[in-house]
Amino acid sequence: MVVGRFAPSPSGRMHLGNIYSAVLSWLSARSQGGRWILRIEDLDRQRCHPEYAGQIEDDLRWLGLDWDEGGSLGGPNGPYYQSERTDFYINVLEKLRETGRLYPCFCSRADIMASSAPHQSDGVVVYSGRCRTLSAAERMALSAERKPATRLCVPDADFTFTDGHYGLQHYNLARDCGDFIVRRADGNFAYQLAVVTDDALMGVTEVVRGCDLLSSTPQQIYLYSLLGYSVPQFAHIPLLVALDGRRLAKRNAGTDMGSLRQRYTPQQLLGLIAHLAGLTDQREELSISEILSLFAWNKVPTENVVVD
Ligand code: GLU
Repeated sequence: MVVGRFAPSPSGRMHLGNIYSAVLSWLSARSQGGRWILRIEDLDRQRCHPEYAGQIEDDLRWLGLDWDEGGSLGGPNGPYYQSERTDFYINVLEKLRETGRLYPCFCSRADIMASSAPHQSDGVVVYSGRCRTLSAAERMALSAERKPATRLCVPDADFTFTDGHYGLQHYNLARDCGDFIVRRADGNFAYQLAVVTDDALMGVTEVVRGCDLLSSTPQQIYLYSLLGYSVPQFAHIPLLVALDGRRLAKRNAGTDMGSLRQRYTPQQLLGLIAHLAGLTDQREELSISEILSLFAWNKVPTENVVVD
């Protein structure tokens, strides 16, 4: 049984890009007769607010998207709010510790910027591994000054995986991202650790999400392999971008669900999304079940989609 999921962060009202991901993830799961989970990624307590989580549910329902478990509906694999899943993350961190690949990192952001080579293409900073070789005495001394983050040592080896939409991907974690943080110095678990823990324990078999997360996927696959969990099928989707080429975000006025709901009916908005997803030649009014019958992955574009 296919199990898909949508994992929004309740840091504001959803915008067109968020619901584009939600709709495509829902369509992919439902077109295979699968289940669909709603998981609320509220790890960052400073930025996330419960009222936004409620609004996400309301906006999904308004569009006609239903889910089998998650959010306030609950279900057998809960809780479905990351802020309530700390015990799971602690267990997973302990499992990772047994691999001998974790180490404390005392670097500040400034240290990291100073000692790391920015990744050639996209400005991603590759961690130099500076704290990996500290002696026990050095760690003791530094611990007295500041709390460390926890990093995972990655292999310098070439791997591939096949994305369900973008095809074969080549990567080398040491070259492309460097040792990465699994728990931050403030005690919060990192997105990479939380998302893998949750997808694995919730039985997710298919991850559909924006291609801004394609570059995080190798880190996540590495975590799956260390933890002995089976790796879901990943399928990334293009980003919606504004005319200036920048990703659609909360700053683009008029694209948040509040204003979209004032201007469109659910069928009009779904018709727009179906068109942006390559499922129709022109904008028309459609229900979610009508779109389901039109859905096919090979119609979905791979180039980012410009929304004017
Ligand atoms: N919570 C992430 C976001 O809202 C999505 C994570 C994922 O789909 O893996 O961008």
